Amino acid sequence: MSSTHAETPSRVVIIGGGPGGYESALVARQLGAEVTIVDRDGLGGSAVLTDCVPSKTLIATAELMAEMQEAHELGIGFRDAEGDPATARVDLKGVNERVKRLAEQQSADIARRVEREGVRVLPGLGRLDGPGTVVAATPDGGEERLEADAVLVATGASPRVLPTAMPDGERILTWEQVYDLDETPSELIVVGSGVTGAEFASAYQSLGIPVTLVSSRDRVLPGEDADAAQVLEDVLRRRGMTVLSRSRMQSVTRDGDVVTVTLSDGRKVTGSHCVLALGSIPNTAGIGLEEAGVILKDGGFINVDRVSRTSARGVYAAGDCTGVLMLASVAAMQGRIAMWHFLGDAVQPLNLSNVASNVFTAPEIATVGASQRAIDAGEIQAETVMLPLRGNPRAKMQGVTDGFVKLFCRPGIGIVVGGVVVGPRASELIHPVALAVAESLTADQLAQAFTVYPSMSGSVAEAARRLHQF
Ligand SMILES: Cc1cc2nc3c(=O)[nH]c(=O)nc-3n(C[C@H](O)[C@H](O)[C@H](O)COP(=O)(O)OP(=O)(O)OC[C@H]3O[C@@H](n4cnc5c(N)ncnc54)[C@H](O)[C@@H]3O)c2cc1C
Repeated sequence: MSSTHAETPSRVVIIGGGPGGYESALVARQLGAEVTIVDRDGLGGSAVLTDCVPSKTLIATAELMAEMQEAHELGIGFRDAEGDPATARVDLKGVNERVKRLAEQQSADIARRVEREGVRVLPGLGRLDGPGTVVAATPDGGEERLEADAVLVATGASPRVLPTAMPDGERILTWEQVYDLDETPSELIVVGSGVTGAEFASAYQSLGIPVTLVSSRDRVLPGEDADAAQVLEDVLRRRGMTVLSRSRMQSVTRDGDVVTVTLSDGRKVTGSHCVLALGSIPNTAGIGLEEAGVILKDGGFINVDRVSRTSARGVYAAGDCTGVLMLASVAAMQGRIAMWHFLGDAVQPLNLSNVASNVFTAPEIATVGASQRAIDAGEIQAETVMLPLRGNPRAKMQGVTDGFVKLFCRPGIGIVVGGVVVGPRASELIHPVALAVAESLTADQLAQAFTVYPSMSGSVAEAARRLHQF
């Protein structure tokens, strides 16, 4: 380990042990600081314990189920012991046990790693007492005061709940509560068609559960590429999902085993369970932020600059509590940048134009760089090509009919500025496009690299070839 402050180590206190917190702790230790993380729920944060890791583990099972449902296309049939046609059934209790086990193991792995690096982990609820002091309320009812040269606030966010749709943890559920389900819902209603709502609706549908998706907007995934969202919505409907567009939820109530979602126009939708995906609110209330001089934005998010500084000297913030871009990868990068900046290492301000992200639906939707919306609005000049995957030889072999590769490049110079991939494992296929965007490669350079024949990535190279300019 290198140390820039060997004689009097800087004292860094981090509130929150999610990716924003623990990744910055590792950087701060690497640069020689004395580091304490105050965390109330377990290392890994919501990302590992309730959000990202559990949902992607559930989706891993859903993907396998979806493949089995379409296996007949590839000549596979299932028979029961008597030789009659059979369909695979999900054991949701078993799936949920696996999800929770995996999340806990991942949290324990992270705790071991940070402790091995010399980070002190203090279980408890942290709050600022002025800009340079953190007070931790520990589980034994005690309190510990920690003086700090720098504080990083990385307290994350929590599911938004409405008084007219209060979760009961049994049939009306936030995304954090779904893993406690022991029984398989007979009819699931998902409220909210942003990324989280779309992912859960798609996953439970793949698990064989009838799903109704309640969306207040014209189409699902209003924040994503419109062509990609259209493909997804078509696939979800074709597989039997009821998608209620322009349908605003007014209330969710429960009567025994029946859950009723009442829409603002008076329509009612009934089901056995309801998952609420109404967005997130930052965990920034009541922890001494404003009293310490930290300015909050609308909605309670912490205002930060591109090196994660807040308005209070020595107080940095990272991750979902800043609302910059609610992704684990961005939280981690904001946290690292804060520590590089505070501890005097080389630092590049946060650059959101290179962030690759993925919606883990079936099919997946991966994006990086410039968006179609920005191009259509004239904010960015770009040539566009969109290539359906169904023409790809590997896609044909695998029975893949839905999806596309879309690339954007600068007119004249041909530099790739963004792209969208819709298809199975789009999260993996986006990487060459992300590399091209990060390194300012031209479409010709992207096209010239060999791709394996036959492969889905052949469509990325083919799309780039179609952008050749002469
Ligand atoms: C369902 C779902 C799926 C997602 N999937 C993905 C994905 O696939 N990929 C991706 O990149 N992102 C995903 N995200 C987003 C990702 O989970 C967040 O961006 C990420 O968790 C943000 O990390 P963070 O460190 O800011 O906060 P968190 O992970 O929320 O961690 C914050 C921690 O701080 C603790 N804390 C809060 N207040 C205090 C306090 N006062 N004192 C002590 N501790 C405190 C919390 O208990 C928590 O442990 C998903 C989100 C949701 C809701």
